[in-house]
Amino acid sequence: MLSPVEEIKSRLDVVEVIQGYLKLQKAGSNWKGLCPFHSEKTPSFMVTPARQMWHCFGCAQGGDVFAFVGKMEGLEFGDTLRLLADKAGVKLSRQDPQIQSKRKRIYEVCELAARFFQRQLISNTGQAAVRYLTDRGVSQESVKNFGIGWAPDTWQSLRDFLNGEGYTDPEMMDGGLVVQSEDSKDYHDRFRHRVMFPISDSNGQVIGFSGRLFDKIKAKTVHADAGKYINTPNTLLYDKSRALYGLDKAKLAIRQSNNCVLVEGNLDVVMSHQAGVNNAVAPCGTAFSQEHFRIIKRYSDHLLLAFDADEAGEAALKRSVAMALASGFSVMAVATPFGKDAADAVKENPKLWQEAVASPAPYIGLILKKSLEKFKLGTLEAKKAVALAVLPFIKSVASPLERDHWLGELSLKIGVEKNILVSELKSVQVYGVEGTGVANSDNFSKKTAGTEQSARIKQEEYLVALLSRYPELKKLITEDDLIILSQPGMMAAVRVIMDGGEVRVGEISDSAMLAGDFLDEFVVEPQSEFLKILANLRKQYIQSRLKIIQTDMSKAEMESDSANLELLKVEFNELSKKLNG
Ligand SMILES: [Zn+2]
Repeated sequence: MLSPVEEIKSRLDVVEVIQGYLKLQKAGSNWKGLCPFHSEKTPSFMVTPARQMWHCFGCAQGGDVFAFVGKMEGLEFGDTLRLLADKAGVKLSRQDPQIQSKRKRIYEVCELAARFFQRQLISNTGQAAVRYLTDRGVSQESVKNFGIGWAPDTWQSLRDFLNGEGYTDPEMMDGGLVVQSEDSKDYHDRFRHRVMFPISDSNGQVIGFSGRLFDKIKAKTVHADAGKYINTPNTLLYDKSRALYGLDKAKLAIRQSNNCVLVEGNLDVVMSHQAGVNNAVAPCGTAFSQEHFRIIKRYSDHLLLAFDADEAGEAALKRSVAMALASGFSVMAVATPFGKDAADAVKENPKLWQEAVASPAPYIGLILKKSLEKFKLGTLEAKKAVALAVLPFIKSVASPLERDHWLGELSLKIGVEKNILVSELKSVQVYGVEGTGVANSDNFSKKTAGTEQSARIKQEEYLVALLSRYPELKKLITEDDLIILSQPGMMAAVRVIMDGGEVRVGEISDSAMLAGDFLDEFVVEPQSEFLKILANLRKQYIQSRLKIIQTDMSKAEMESDSANLELLKVEFNELSKKLNG
């Protein structure tokens, strides 16, 4: 048996824990950042995920996760142990009763609910669900390992149980477990007559559920309004754009293999693990987001798409692949067709699944191959069609070397010169950029922008991140302010938020600094912070306008265009007043 310290270490990722305190950047297989224990301007603080250690080359301090948190929080070892045990969900004997925060209460109701559902599965009412799971090929061991349960077809069972355990309706609401009816204001269970998959955070603590309806007759009658899958709505703990089903069980295997297998749904994950492919995860009822990739990047640089071959045509998947490529992942896909989905493939023959995963091909290569099969080469139109199918992915690739490789490959296959493809690449839209209107191809080239410009972009991103986190701030901004944003994508994002829509920070920026947790922890007064940035951006806008007007004025002077010169002078004076006033 593991000691509490070992247990905690096995559950916590040193990179993740340290990232809770400071910003880290990927540096090869390690992470680096500014040392919190001595003052420095260039990063010499390194974290090594493979060894789960950190070290500062500036002040020569280092150690494991305990050493870091103890130093950072100024705690004795015992207190550090308690803090990290709590974080890792490890029970220490004789744990002090603590002030129960809202988050803690949600963890508790989720954990209790998971156990409740598990008990229901082995009760009499759960027999149909057990049969369903058996039919799908899920072993008893997998049921246990993933904590799969059953929500009975009743309105109050879970609510009654949790009430009996001392939890209030609003607390269950906070955990997303009950729903309040609009008319009667009564609370009832959200999940009914469903096979329940608990969703855990990366430390293995339950934060939400995915409930699957399997009964076809019920699906058509009593539950016709609800979907085949219902997931926990976003709560303090659960965010669907970040939650990855199976990550807690897969993370070690992902790190060890430096490869993450992406499958579609809960059962695919369960069955993949059952077949010994332990590095598989799935999103929870959404497409993969930038946030998902940011999380996976902590463990691996390689992705393996193991979706059904037909799914590859889907727009959402294309967008995800484009995002993954732009985030610097190498993206492979299973090359051999393996039937309907991962779950069915494993049920049919686990070996088939293992082999499919073991022999992947580069995703871009597969798209190229498929397009060549689809459009018979020979006509100009066909060449164009193949190029257009493949170029958007090549454009997404972060590595210039890899980009060049695929351009060469495409050139060879369709018999079009590489330099023509290179110029074609410029006008091609990256998947995921069209449609939302939020992400903008400018984002991809911003790294090459001047430092002044990139500082401004960062401020614009920060502004949008604050707005998306605290939508009430939109009162402080008007339609006229949109013009101060230099990025069309940022402008679109602000407009979406002003219209009451939602923008995910992951879609506008790849900066981890802007993620929700960071804002929550470090921004004490969002409003004054927001106003400060707004004033700053307004000032920068006016300054850049003034520069342009000055150039225009000297041009007008040279051309003796006195009318225009007069107009420009008026604008110049007005803007100068604004800048100083
Ligand atoms: Zn240091």
